[in-house]
Amino acid sequence: MKFDVLVLGAGIVGVSTAIHLQSRGLSTALIDRGTPGRETSFGNAGLIQREGVYPYAFPRDIGTLLHYARNQSTDVRYHPSALPSIAPFLVRYWHHSAPQRHARIARQYSTLIEHCLTEHQALINRAGADDLLRDGGWLKVFHRRDAFDAALLDTERWQREYGVPFERLDAAQLQRDEPSLSATLIGAIRHTASSSIRDPGELVARYAQYFTSIGGQILRGDATTLNPHWRVQTLEGEIEGRHAVVAMGPWSDTITRALGYRLPLAVKRGYHRHFLPDTGAQLNQPVLDAESGFLLAPMNQGIRLTTGVELALRDAPRTPVQLAAVEPLARRLFPLGKPVESEPWMGCRPCTPDMLPIIGPAPGHRDLWFAFGHAHHGLTLGPVTGRLIAEMLTGAPTLVDPAPFRADRF
Ligand SMILES: Cc1cc2nc3c(=O)[nH]c(=O)nc-3n(C[C@H](O)[C@H](O)[C@H](O)COP(=O)(O)OP(=O)(O)OC[C@H]3O[C@@H](n4cnc5c(N)ncnc54)[C@H](O)[C@@H]3O)c2cc1C
Repeated sequence: MKFDVLVLGAGIVGVSTAIHLQSRGLSTALIDRGTPGRETSFGNAGLIQREGVYPYAFPRDIGTLLHYARNQSTDVRYHPSALPSIAPFLVRYWHHSAPQRHARIARQYSTLIEHCLTEHQALINRAGADDLLRDGGWLKVFHRRDAFDAALLDTERWQREYGVPFERLDAAQLQRDEPSLSATLIGAIRHTASSSIRDPGELVARYAQYFTSIGGQILRGDATTLNPHWRVQTLEGEIEGRHAVVAMGPWSDTITRALGYRLPLAVKRGYHRHFLPDTGAQLNQPVLDAESGFLLAPMNQGIRLTTGVELALRDAPRTPVQLAAVEPLARRLFPLGKPVESEPWMGCRPCTPDMLPIIGPAPGHRDLWFAFGHAHHGLTLGPVTGRLIAEMLTGAPTLVDPAPFRADRF
C-alpha cells in the first residue's frame, strides 16, 4: 500500500495532523500500535488553554528550589534514581526559564496558543463533537491571600502583554458559581477565554472517525519498524509513504534516536482517577487548586482528579504518591464520592527544555517531519500543530512563523 504521508502516532497531535493532510488531498495513513487517543491524549485534564501564553517554567528562586528538593510537595515530585539521567535536561530547562528567556519563549509560544481554540473549533465542527466542548473557561482557586495576589499579578501580565482576558472572583461570587466548592476559599481567577473538553480520549476518537470519513486510513502497526524512505510494518503488511510524520508524543524518541537524532527530550509524568460526586454535589467547570497543584475536572466518566508533575523516567514503575497525597485535599475542596476505577491512570507529558514543541522538518532526512514535545499543552495545540505540519509539507503559506519550533534549534 502506498500513501503520500504516513503519520506515526494517533494521539491528539497525530490525528489532527492526519486530518489536515488528508483534507489537502494527500492520501494519508495514520499508524498506531493501539487505538487512537488512548495514551497521553486520553488522560489529561481536558483544558484548551488559551491563557497558556507562558509555558510552565522551572522555578528559579532558591526558596522554591529547596522546597521541591525535599521531595515532599504535592505538585512536583521526582524519582531520586532518575536524577542522574534527567539532570542535563533539568539544567537546560532551568536555563531557559530565566525571566528574559522565558519572556522571549512566550512571544514565540503565544503565536501557537493564539489559534488553539479556533483550530479546535474548526475540527470539532467537522467531526460533530460539539457535545464534548465546554465553553466558559476554568477556575484557579485560592486559600491564601499571598498566593492569590501573586497569581493575579501573572494573570494581569498575560492580559497586558497578550490581551488574554480573565475574571477575578471574590469568595461570594465563587460560591454563587460553584456552590459545592469549599466555603473557606478566598477567591478565584477564571480564565474566561479558555475552554475544556468533557472527554479528551473521546475527542480524539471523534477526530479519528472524521479522518476515516474523508478517506484517511487508520492502521495498526509498530512505528519503530520505520525504514527510510518511508516504510512501516502494519498488521495489513508493509506500507510506504513519500513523507513520514513522527507524532508519537513521549515515545517519539524511540524513532528519532534510531535515526541518529539526539534531541533533549524528557517526560513529566502525571496521574488521574475519577470519582463520583457525592449526592447533590455538582462541579460546572474545571477547578485548579493552585496552591496544592491538583485539578478537578467534570468529565463524562466522573470528576477527574489530575496531579501535577512527577519527574521520572518514562518507563519506570508507577508511583502514584501525589494522587494519594492530594485526594484528601481534593475531598476538602469538593465532596467526592467513590472512586470509579480500581487503579489510577498514568501518562507522560512529552517535554523539551526550552518549553517549545518540535514542529517541522527533520534536519537530517528529506520528507521526514517532527510533531511532538507539547508538554502540558498537547491537547491545546494538537490542531494548530496539525495545520502547521500540513502547510509546511505542502509548501503552503503557514498560519504562524514555524521557525522557533524547528528541530535544528537543538
Ligand atoms: C496528567 C496530565 C494532564 C494534562 N492536562 C492537559 C490539559 O489540560 N491540556 C492540555 O493541552 N494538555 C494536557 N496534558 C498534556 C497532553 O495530554 C499531551 O501533551 C498530549 O496528549 C500529547 O499528545 P500526543 O499526540 O503528542 O501524544 P500521545 O497522546 O501520547 O500519542 C502518541 C501515540 O503514539 C503511539 N505510539 C507510541 N509508540 C508507538 C509505536 N512504537 N508504534 C505505533 N504507535 C506508537 C501511542 O500509542 C499514542 O497513541 C496533560 C498531560 C497529563 C499527563
